[in-house]
Amino acid sequence: MSIINSITVIKSFNREKVEAEKQLILQKQLTDNQMYTRQISFVFDGLKTFTEQIGIVFIIILTAYFVLVGDMSIGMIMFHILLFNNVSAPIRSLHRIYDEVNDAMIYAESFFQILQADDEIEDSGQQKPAHLRGKFELKQVDFYYPNGHHALKNINMVIQPNKITALVGLSGAGKSTLISLLDKFYLPQSGQILMDGIDLNQMDTQYLRDHIGLVLQKNHIFQGTIQDNICYGKMDATEEEIIRAAKKASIHEQILKLPKGYQSDALQLSGGQQQRIAIARMFLKNPPIIFLDEPTASLDAIATEQIKHSLDEIKQGRTVIIISHSLSQIIDADYTYVMQDGAIVEHGEHYQLYQQQGVYKDIFDAMAKSLNIDKIAKTFDNEGEEETHS
Ligand code: ADP
Repeated sequence: MSIINSITVIKSFNREKVEAEKQLILQKQLTDNQMYTRQISFVFDGLKTFTEQIGIVFIIILTAYFVLVGDMSIGMIMFHILLFNNVSAPIRSLHRIYDEVNDAMIYAESFFQILQADDEIEDSGQQKPAHLRGKFELKQVDFYYPNGHHALKNINMVIQPNKITALVGLSGAGKSTLISLLDKFYLPQSGQILMDGIDLNQMDTQYLRDHIGLVLQKNHIFQGTIQDNICYGKMDATEEEIIRAAKKASIHEQILKLPKGYQSDALQLSGGQQQRIAIARMFLKNPPIIFLDEPTASLDAIATEQIKHSLDEIKQGRTVIIISHSLSQIIDADYTYVMQDGAIVEHGEHYQLYQQQGVYKDIFDAMAKSLNIDKIAKTFDNEGEEETHS
């Protein structure tokens, strides 16, 4: 399937032949596997039928012997064979059921593994404090992914409540991993994560996630109407509440312009609109803590500018952690942690960090350079001059 989604890239690199060969090898492996499974199942079926037939032959020989000896009548033989059929039919269907259950178990194995993996975290804590302020403290946290990758190394940090904290770092530094740990999608192998002084292990996972809003890079829009998508975080929301949330996310007017309004298909919306639907969903859920993981990364400049207002609105009065490659969003943060290769290398406020002449300065300068700020400034200057001349 993924190969079909990537067809444009494959064609643009002229890699059709290579990809076709890879597919051929894959298909051949699949066919070989299937052949092997078939072979085994034919041998097994053959053995089963053979044993059954041997049983019948044995009974016929036995009954023939008894008849010859004079212990049995012809009627008794018929009776025996009928009896044998009556017994062997249920045994055969028991076999069939066993085979089917086995097949089902094979297909369901991975599914059960996923369910069980989730359980390990679900059962770990029961604490539900009456009020969450949203102060996170991480103490010597180390985290390895199941494949052994050491993604977080000795992380010590404090996320202050009602403040905006930015995580800055190159791709692969471990920023998203850190957010996944704070949302309890994973547990750290060592160290401690405290939320308002309570160990995250002790906290009820559902309760924690009820208080956290997650806005990701790719808009998480589901098949369904705009209304369904907005009230995903609060299924019993009234129409008024939904409209209020949409207004706060600056999307209400645009929804009204659609032919079917709130009943339109949400997947038909543009990227920027979908992201605002996701923000409206957050307003409705109204969590005290918000994680924004590159919320504008997949949007164009106009859409980014348009959703800036909704993002600023959702940040008000909450604990916010933002991962972003946008200069304006990083400067807006109250405090910044800089990550590199799974560790925190610098932290502080913007100006303070910039003066340290370290990783933050390098990243910040690179971002500014990629914007070509000199030319942008010149463009604005020229425009100003032209206006004064005219
Ligand atoms: P960032 O958000 O800073 O770009 P991530 O937290 O996504 O970085 O990734 C940190 C490191 O962990 C990367 O080297 C990445 O390849 C690795 N990683 C991310 N997710 C997984 C995973 N599910 N399994 C194994 N390694 C992963």
